[in-house]
Amino acid sequence: MALPPAPFPPIRQPEIKYTQLFINNEFIDAVSGKTFPVYNPATEQKIADVSEGDKADVDKAVNAAKAAFEFGSPWQQMDASGRGRLLLKLADLIDRDAVYLSSLETFDNGKIFKESVYVDLFGSSAVLRYYAGWCDKIQGKTVPIDGNFFCYTRREPVGICGQIIPWNFPMPMMMWKIGPALACGNVVVLKPAEQTPLNALYIASLIKEAGFPPGVVNVIPGYGPTAGAAITNHPDINKIAFTGSTETGKLIMKTAADTMKRVTLELGGKCPVVVFDDFEDIDKAVEIAHQAVYFAAGQCCAAGSRTYVHEAIYDEFVKKTVERARNRPVGDPFNDDIEMGPQIDSAQFDKILNMVESGKKEGAVLECGGKRHGTTGYFIEPTVFSNVTENMRICREEIFGPVQTVMKFSTLEEVIKKANDSCYGLAAGILTGSIDKALQFTSRVKAGTVWVNWYNFLTSQTPYGGFKESGIGRELGEDAINAYTENKTVTIKTSSKF
Ligand code: NAD
Repeated sequence: MALPPAPFPPIRQPEIKYTQLFINNEFIDAVSGKTFPVYNPATEQKIADVSEGDKADVDKAVNAAKAAFEFGSPWQQMDASGRGRLLLKLADLIDRDAVYLSSLETFDNGKIFKESVYVDLFGSSAVLRYYAGWCDKIQGKTVPIDGNFFCYTRREPVGICGQIIPWNFPMPMMMWKIGPALACGNVVVLKPAEQTPLNALYIASLIKEAGFPPGVVNVIPGYGPTAGAAITNHPDINKIAFTGSTETGKLIMKTAADTMKRVTLELGGKCPVVVFDDFEDIDKAVEIAHQAVYFAAGQCCAAGSRTYVHEAIYDEFVKKTVERARNRPVGDPFNDDIEMGPQIDSAQFDKILNMVESGKKEGAVLECGGKRHGTTGYFIEPTVFSNVTENMRICREEIFGPVQTVMKFSTLEEVIKKANDSCYGLAAGILTGSIDKALQFTSRVKAGTVWVNWYNFLTSQTPYGGFKESGIGRELGEDAINAYTENKTVTIKTSSKF
């Protein structure tokens, strides 16, 4: 559903305070001295030049992380509850700087300010507080094995974690990664996306202010094939956590195999939203399906971009969907009346418009949109296609933009088959008044998250990740604690049973 107005006004031109690499709690230039430009996608204006990390910088960051993780280091010796207090402090600092950080999120990414506040900013401090609570509750077991032994398990940190994040939710992606990693006592080398490094660097300054020891978190902005690949290849990094495209995820998984790094991958999606004629209200269904795809300008791995509508309401649903899309205000993301900002950059902009062309060529009906909005910034009109069939590229490939494809179905059996006819399996939704249909769907759909009579609701407490090519492993919830720990079995020979 549409978000309420932002609780405070934005800073339209936030001052850029940090543009260098963050290693050992210090901001420093890249070894090469190189920088790269960062742009505001709403204006196409350059915001800043940011230090460009590469292999030599990743080596430095890994050395700093290694020292921070050594036996006897302040971080290694810290009480688990002490880690929790640091995470709570960081969450408080993020909330203290809410206006600045949410303004910078919009400035750098282009998402509407309301989303920056309610989703990115509040969602970030919530994740940290959730994991702060975990720190002193990560426990092993005593195991009653056969023979005269005392046996227990302990959950130990994995070690040095390489974390590579995308541009679509810059702040929350950082928190999903560092929250559980730090709760478990790990150390981190994180690479933000080249499009959106600014909040990660500002948050690095808050990490220092909160009191995390040097080297515990290191932030290396830079490009994927250089800085990103140096992290994935580094023999001393024990785990990689990646969010981004399935293509890059596959590459990372192959590379990580050489040193048997633990991997969690949160990748692409092409998520189905199934609308039955027995759902309570067609207008509500149209709105849920609309928000499912256009939230974050469609740049969301869980975007509900395949809308399957029961034949009994198909024509009316398409008509109302088109009206709603035409009325979605696009423009200046700092303006409270605007519902959708620009795409992240020219590459994504071109990719989306190419996908629209392919839809037209393959015979789908372009009901509205399909063009650039305005003349400056990477804005695209909300786009709806009807009469889409499963073989079309717009139905099979992740578009990652404001493009909704609306398909018709007649039976539950048919729509379950269609929903599962995808290489992806990240999320799915169903809108129905029938518990039986909902249970059939939720149990048979191949997706890591399923929403019933709702869409796009993520919480810190619940695991998130994909089936099939949408990824490996789960983030958030207790699952992330398991992903950031090794489970060690200790067996002690004893003289009798105790
Ligand atoms: P990407 O996967 O290339 O980039 C994501 C992150 O991976 C960035 O930090 C990038 O620098 C890094 N990276 C790129 N190549 C790398 C490599 N060889 N080794 C290590 N790290 C590397 O995604 P993109 O090019 O920004 O976007 C392309 C498509 O990816 C989008 O159209 C969308 O379909 C998908 N995407 C998905 C998500 C998601 O949340 N699942 C986020 C962003 C993009």
